[in-house]
Amino acid sequence: MRYPDHLSKIIQVLKRLPGVGNKSAERFAFHLLTWPEEQLKELGAVVASAKEQLKHCSSCGCLMDSAGCLFCLSPKRNPNILCVLASPKDVFSIEETHSYDGLYHVLGGLLSPLERMGPEHLSLDMLKERLVHHQVKEVVIALDSTLEGDATALFLKQELENYPLQISRLAFGLPMGSSLDYVDGGTLARALSGRGDF
Ligand SMILES: [Zn+2]
Repeated sequence: MRYPDHLSKIIQVLKRLPGVGNKSAERFAFHLLTWPEEQLKELGAVVASAKEQLKHCSSCGCLMDSAGCLFCLSPKRNPNILCVLASPKDVFSIEETHSYDGLYHVLGGLLSPLERMGPEHLSLDMLKERLVHHQVKEVVIALDSTLEGDATALFLKQELENYPLQISRLAFGLPMGSSLDYVDGGTLARALSGRGDF
């Protein structure tokens, strides 16, 4: 399809977003063209200032704005529990459950030889420093149930084994509302091994 150059450019930029292919990018681009200029400028301005306005907390790695870290600065959070996650986005998934009141530690990725992500890319030194200085009693590993997530969890367990800590990992099991018929063997095996009292 031959579009005017600037329209092609908008489509190419939108295609950089995850899960956005040609068709979606075209649809979004044409939709944006219907917006009033004011709103387009607002979109451009908020996106352009994202890096300037949002920083990573130097202690936990969570995203924060000029008000400071929502978690590290809150007196309501339990500093004795640290939930370790791969990315700042995962923090919000845990927060949405309203079931956790400890602090967080964002690793900054998962170990992956294919993507050349080694231990030196994870914020491990800061994690160990926090364990010592904040008298952390429990570490909850909340990483993906994937090859990379499993490898990283195992690596963390080994790295932290000499600390006086309880280390746990999120239980993996059946998705809510699912029938056993439709659950794959790996998920079912995990659900069985992670079964709890009833
Ligand atoms: Zn923080």
